[in-house]
Amino acid sequence: MNRKRSEAFDFDVIVVGAGHAGCEAAYAASKMGLQALLITIHLETVAQMSCNPAIGGLAKGHLVREVDALGGLMGLLADETGIQFRLLNRSRGGAVQAPRAQCDKALYRLTMKKRLEETPNLTLFQAIVTEVLVSGAKAKGVRTMDGNSISAKAVILSPGTFLNGLIHMGLHSYPAGRANEPAAVELSDSLKRLGLKMFRLKTGTPMRLDKHSIGWEVFTPQPGDEVPVPFSFRTRRALENKVLCHLGYTNARAHEVIQKNLDKSPLYSGKITGIGPRYCPSIEDKVVKFPHHERHQFFLEPEGLSTSEIYVNGLSSSLPFEVQKEILENIPGLESAKILRPAYGIEYDAVSPVELKHSLETRKIENLYLAGQINGTSGYEEAAAQGLMAGINAALKIKKKAPLLFGRHEAYIGVLIDDLVTKGVEEPYRMFTSRAEHRLLLRADNADQRLIGYGFELGLIGKEDFRAYLEKKARLKRVFTFLQEKKVRVGNKEKISLRDWLKKPHVRIENVLKYAKLPVQLSDEERRAVEFEVKYEGYVRRQEKEIVRMRKMDRVKIPEGLNFREIPGLTREAVEKMESFRPKSVGQAKRIPGLTPAAIVNICLFLKARARKNSGKGRPVPRETLS
Ligand SMILES: Cc1cc2nc3c(=O)[nH]c(=O)nc-3n(C[C@H](O)[C@H](O)[C@H](O)COP(=O)(O)OP(=O)(O)OC[C@H]3O[C@@H](n4cnc5c(N)ncnc54)[C@H](O)[C@@H]3O)c2cc1C
Repeated sequence: MNRKRSEAFDFDVIVVGAGHAGCEAAYAASKMGLQALLITIHLETVAQMSCNPAIGGLAKGHLVREVDALGGLMGLLADETGIQFRLLNRSRGGAVQAPRAQCDKALYRLTMKKRLEETPNLTLFQAIVTEVLVSGAKAKGVRTMDGNSISAKAVILSPGTFLNGLIHMGLHSYPAGRANEPAAVELSDSLKRLGLKMFRLKTGTPMRLDKHSIGWEVFTPQPGDEVPVPFSFRTRRALENKVLCHLGYTNARAHEVIQKNLDKSPLYSGKITGIGPRYCPSIEDKVVKFPHHERHQFFLEPEGLSTSEIYVNGLSSSLPFEVQKEILENIPGLESAKILRPAYGIEYDAVSPVELKHSLETRKIENLYLAGQINGTSGYEEAAAQGLMAGINAALKIKKKAPLLFGRHEAYIGVLIDDLVTKGVEEPYRMFTSRAEHRLLLRADNADQRLIGYGFELGLIGKEDFRAYLEKKARLKRVFTFLQEKKVRVGNKEKISLRDWLKKPHVRIENVLKYAKLPVQLSDEERRAVEFEVKYEGYVRRQEKEIVRMRKMDRVKIPEGLNFREIPGLTREAVEKMESFRPKSVGQAKRIPGLTPAAIVNICLFLKARARKNSGKGRPVPRETLS
């Protein structure tokens, strides 16, 4: 590895782990002009999709759009390697519409590796990192399994499920990071030695089947959208669906097989101690927790164009191989299905994200950043968003600039990071639209309007793409003016502006287009954006007022080291929560799970009284301590 010496360091930034977080982090830091080293266990598994061959979906699609608007790679690569595209919830409101793409896994890996190899200032290196080198509570570099030490001004860790990974299949288990790849045990120990709070999580994946051994006629084809919607605002070509997915169901016989083999399940025998994702349960979990369900759906998803592997979305399991086979033998269409890769469960260590600042730098170790699954999240999209932000913020810090922090009203990325560092996680964290109280503002189709300016300023979005965005913005503006000025008589009613007409719940943009030709050509997505903007106007204004109120609360600081036991009226439970989370502001305290509004009022009253006492009677009290 050629050390690109800058001053006393081998590199500016070292990123450990070329997963979905690490790739975005390394790409961002090097695109911002820093010398970055991306170290990973195998260069063949750069951006490997460990689980489902799909990117996006509800709320995850929003995250990918935001990563794209900031100049990240995931959206572009999903379009480049996508083999089926769908816009979920197309018939519902704009806030819950989200793109999802089936991707060719092998092509996604190769395309990402090629993209990173061609990125200036970025070096890829194959090695296993065993330790973060720290001196004076500052990260200084890493050590690898072969005893090599590499120094850097900042270290970003994104080792995914590899930290002390343990694979379970039935009552057998063995150390691994994912399917037969080495676990990162030493690295996990080194983080424990640094005093970072760690906990154990679990996830699982289904079997992969040979497509030639499946009775396809039994299953219901699931085609992609007629007009695929791209993930990336920078994709200019039309996309094509190349594969079908298929819908199938389990049945009572298959459930019986599971019931009678629960004693061989590491989950139900207590072998697995890690906490699993409630929203992505294994099939044995579904059978046990929903006994009244006669069947559970699953999707047969092609893993790519040049492989016969089929991913069985909905049948993740950690039951023994023999039991997995028996389950399939009882499902029509899968009776003689060949398992190419068995399902398994994996336990791994994660770091409690309350150890982090909103920049994703650890509070205890300066210049050490964590991104992805290590922070307790689950999902390629959540990982990519964190990786991008960690890469950007590590670079900004090295450039002695303030970190880029998004509010909960600006981006799902802001909601994701604020939830993690303020509330912590008790189970693998997955993004949902319900987590975003300002979701009407945070639509997937307006991510560019909200964030592309930041991407351009950071140098992650190029001039061409930014110009194209400004042209789109100008087009939309012309259309809004046109809708405002153009009056029509609908039926025999009063003349009304098209804009006011479009506000009516039963009116869609298609209706408006029957009445008038827009002054400029808009894409399908842009037309839908116009409709959402007009229809949500009132709600958006109300939300903006709420945001101002919340931001005021966020400005009320809670002094470092305050003794919360002194606050009158606070319950013991509230004091414990305040002590464990140590919120920096009343706004942050307000977001701690389980802290009651009454507790917040008591805290505010106490801070006011304290501010008054400190300032002495009669002298003006600084605004931020009273508001
Ligand atoms: C079995 C399994 C099932 C899953 N199921 C789901 C699911 O159902 N739903 C869902 O949303 N997500 C699921 N995921 C999670 C999803 O894969 C991750 O959320 C996502 O990949 C996390 O991205 P990441 O970048 O944090 O880590 P990963 O994508 O896991 O990448 C980590 C990278 O770090 C490298 N690495 C690790 N340790 C070291 C080291 N010491 N030195 C050098 N390199 C190192 C690895 O080689 C790898 O390239 C599953 C993952 C697995 C393994």
